[in-house]
Amino acid sequence: MKRAVYPGSFDPVTFGHLDVIRRASEMFDVLVVSVLDNKAKTPLFSVEERVKILKEATKDIPNVQVDSFSGLLINYAAKNGIHVAVRGLRAITDFEYELQIAQTNRKLSGEKLDTVFLTTSLEYAYLSSSSVKEIASFGGDISQCVPEFVAKLIYEKYHIL
Ligand code: ADP
Repeated sequence: MKRAVYPGSFDPVTFGHLDVIRRASEMFDVLVVSVLDNKAKTPLFSVEERVKILKEATKDIPNVQVDSFSGLLINYAAKNGIHVAVRGLRAITDFEYELQIAQTNRKLSGEKLDTVFLTTSLEYAYLSSSSVKEIASFGGDISQCVPEFVAKLIYEKYHIL
């Protein structure tokens, strides 16, 4: 069984993430989308909320599981017997950061965890959770960026609607 993990903040999940999830789910038997509980960030949605949102957004893809973790990805992957991490690349600006993390994870894991990159579909290249939140906080239209139920939850957080 080929299992992979797609780790990230997913605060909240966007069509860009969902595009990566759908494509990666076709490459592996099981794709575990795992929300990182990063104490250094102040998220809009709690880890529990992000997990719930991801479960709803991926409910039609049977081989996707949703989970959360804190601490090092390599430890989480080892505990779950996973040897591949999936990450998305939007632009050259993502590349340097992602390359560094991928190389660190490979080294730290004793070459047990490799990273596979999926380049974004062009229509989602501009999309990030932070820009979606910023647009929504000013009451802007985010219907092209996130599923309808997610847009509603974001507006609720900003007391819009
Ligand atoms: P992090 O805070 O770990 O960067 P994110 O939730 O922002 O987490 O993103 C998780 C992963 O998804 C990262 O690899 C990021 O590059 C990728 N990603 C985010 N948005 C897109 C997008 N629009 N298209 C492709 N990949 C994306």
